[in-house]
Amino acid sequence: MSLQLEEAQRIKNLPPYLFARIEKLIAAKRKAGVDVISLGIGDPDMPTPGHIIEELQKQAEVPANHQYPSSVGMLSYRQAVARWYQNRFGVELNPDSEIVSVIGSKEGIAHIAWCYLNPGDTVLVPDPGYPVYAGGAILAGAEPYYMPLEAEKGFLPDLGAIPADVARRAKMMFINYPNNPTGAVAGEEFYQEVIAFARENNILICHDAAYSEMSYDGYKPPSFLQFQGAIDVGIEFHSVSKSYNMTGWRIGWAAGHPAVVEALGRLKSNIDSGQFQAVQYAAIKGLTGPQDDVSKMQKIYQERRDILVDALNGMGWSLTKPKATFYVWAPVPAGHTSESFAELVLEKAGVVITPGTGYGENGAGFFRIALTVQKERMIEALERMKQNIGTVKF
Ligand SMILES: *Cc1c(COP(=O)(O)O)cnc(C)c1O
Repeated sequence: MSLQLEEAQRIKNLPPYLFARIEKLIAAKRKAGVDVISLGIGDPDMPTPGHIIEELQKQAEVPANHQYPSSVGMLSYRQAVARWYQNRFGVELNPDSEIVSVIGSKEGIAHIAWCYLNPGDTVLVPDPGYPVYAGGAILAGAEPYYMPLEAEKGFLPDLGAIPADVARRAKMMFINYPNNPTGAVAGEEFYQEVIAFARENNILICHDAAYSEMSYDGYKPPSFLQFQGAIDVGIEFHSVSKSYNMTGWRIGWAAGHPAVVEALGRLKSNIDSGQFQAVQYAAIKGLTGPQDDVSKMQKIYQERRDILVDALNGMGWSLTKPKATFYVWAPVPAGHTSESFAELVLEKAGVVITPGTGYGENGAGFFRIALTVQKERMIEALERMKQNIGTVKF
């Protein structure tokens, strides 16, 4: 007799996977022989710098690294993170109590919900946003309250628009700047408002700073933790994924409020045994070694950004160039939904763009382009869009 499998409510509660339809269409195009160019991938296309790879190779040979690591990360790894915060943001962190390693910030973001959210609790989540904020909360049985990110407000949540009863019962808030998917950035005034709001309503702030090193035109994104009082109300998630082209290596950290860092470490010690020490050594190399690969990467993305935005503006858009992230967030032309426009671009130009609704209901009417293909491929994609879609109206 076959098993009668009944999935747990928490996984049944996860939102449906919205990219299934477009992924089927892409597969069909490729099967039909179309040279599909994907501008949909949120993953650096360039390799990890050589000195980091060499460190992994060296450390992989050391027997001490073959044993279980500590689930909170080696002290030397946490010290390297602390030094990086000091150099980059002028933020002092205690590596013993204010930093914990995570297996990529995605893991930490999903698991922090388990530390502070009970079933039925409210968590404030940006919409559009990185799907893991809501996903982790839903798996913990909590209920996301979606804060719309709107163009008129610079894609910052309007904290004043959160109903007082929601603010009062919310336990946690996720924010993310530089932002995926909108490419928006946030400044001191916003962070101060967030800190005051957190104090007033007793809300734990979880800031995701994954793109802090991916910025252009000389702009340097701040850390949430550099603002007065931030460490009393929250933590920051970060990783080497985007800064050093290390998404596949799975190593990051959470830093900030010591009780929160301790709780996350305690939870993790019941789930995982940390990251392979050789990978931790490689991340240390990234954080403490030469940083010229970071500026090289910024130059490459900046050039792609300029080509992309100029070309779209030539077709009728009026986009401003994002100051950070490798995303361009753009409205769909008149008469289109996010899905219908993404399907049109795929059908007519063989180019993949991501419908904004994949990042939340409020992403409707937008699409996201990632700058993660080589210049020549991007120019080819834009040329095809221009020839087969032509000028657009809004
Ligand atoms: C890519 C990305 C991350 C990084 O995730 P890791 O698990 O550290 O690789 C985190 N947040 C956002 C919004 C991202 O786009």
